[in-house]
Amino acid sequence: MRPFEFHRAASLDEALALLARPGARALAGGTTLVDLMKLGVEAPGFLVDIGRLPLDGIALEGGLLRIGALASNSAVARDPVVLSQFPALSEALLSGASGQIRNAASMGGNLMQRTRCAYFRSHDWPCNKRVAGSGCPAREGANGHHAVLGTSDHCIAVNPSDVAVALLALDATVAIASPQGVRHVPIADFYRLPGDTPAVETVMQPGDLIVHLDVPATALATRSGYLKLRGRASYEFASASVAAAVRLEGDVVAEAAVAVGGLGTVPWRDRRAESLLLGEALGEAAVDRFCDAFLAPARPTPDNRYKLDLARGAVHHMLTRSRPC
Ligand SMILES: Cc1cc2nc3c(=O)[nH]c(=O)nc-3n(C[C@H](O)[C@H](O)[C@H](O)COP(=O)(O)OP(=O)(O)OC[C@H]3O[C@@H](n4cnc5c(N)ncnc54)[C@H](O)[C@@H]3O)c2cc1C
Ligand code: SF4
Repeated sequence: MRPFEFHRAASLDEALALLARPGARALAGGTTLVDLMKLGVEAPGFLVDIGRLPLDGIALEGGLLRIGALASNSAVARDPVVLSQFPALSEALLSGASGQIRNAASMGGNLMQRTRCAYFRSHDWPCNKRVAGSGCPAREGANGHHAVLGTSDHCIAVNPSDVAVALLALDATVAIASPQGVRHVPIADFYRLPGDTPAVETVMQPGDLIVHLDVPATALATRSGYLKLRGRASYEFASASVAAAVRLEGDVVAEAAVAVGGLGTVPWRDRRAESLLLGEALGEAAVDRFCDAFLAPARPTPDNRYKLDLARGAVHHMLTRSRPC
């Protein structure tokens, strides 16, 4: 691990001032940043510990659930309001990592975690995300866990966050503070496709700090759920996951939100595909039409083509079998 300076911020203003220094990086729970520093994949010269800032609240107010960036994944997952009105959030969080890691892991850190692509995490290989222009060995190499949606010639790495998928289905907004003030970015616009700059993963600018997330409290959110399919029952990232919510009027779909994880370079949602469900009876045929449209842009490799079937099965399960709305 390379030497670095460490400073514990006592206030939000101090944190923002420190983060404005070149090479500065926020440290929250440290569950993934410290790993990457030990691997030499990340080498910030200056760590700003934000862990003592009062950014861990979880409160429902004025029709919005506000979740502080430092609320732990465990605290959010077991919050009574989240459990009763935003079940997809709780289910997504509980499907991630382990109990110990969830206790230390923050919501802001979860959104900012890096891909688990093995080439990215090893200096034995080139990687465009780690060293711009060095190449992407995953394209022709071991890519069974890689993305099929949103890929580019430069990177096919999957976004690993579970809760980001649930937040996308629930139309959450990310509040980002900088010395210039706070801006609110819909999570649908927060992540960036790899294109030819795969190292740029979000709209965050140097010195920015996520301060909270806002999730609208809606009838749809109350009906939401999360299903994660993976190689083993716990402590594993998604091969395919689905956050879904549907509201019926009579026998037909009045509202639908479906986001998918494990398939995209960013958490993936397709409103045009969702619109195919509206006004339809929620049966196998309508869900098949949704899946056909949703998966049409996929560019699988022979080794990750199986994800298309996993996602299709998970969407069918969530929409027609698990939650009679
Ligand atoms: C073994 C293991 C298994 C895991 N399994 C899963 C899983 O199945 N699903 C899943 O979704 N996640 C999983 N995770 C990821 C885990 O959820 C994240 O490590 C955790 O949420 C990161 O939070 P943190 O507070 O520890 O972040 P840190 O490690 O402190 O920081 C991570 C990154 O976020 C930045 N950051 C932190 N807070 C902020 C902020 N407020 N504003 C701006 N930037 C910020 C840091 O600068 C750093 O770049 C796993 C992690 C491990 C180690
Ligand atoms: S998929 Fe992306 S992260 Fe993985 S080796 Fe290629 S460029 Fe690097």
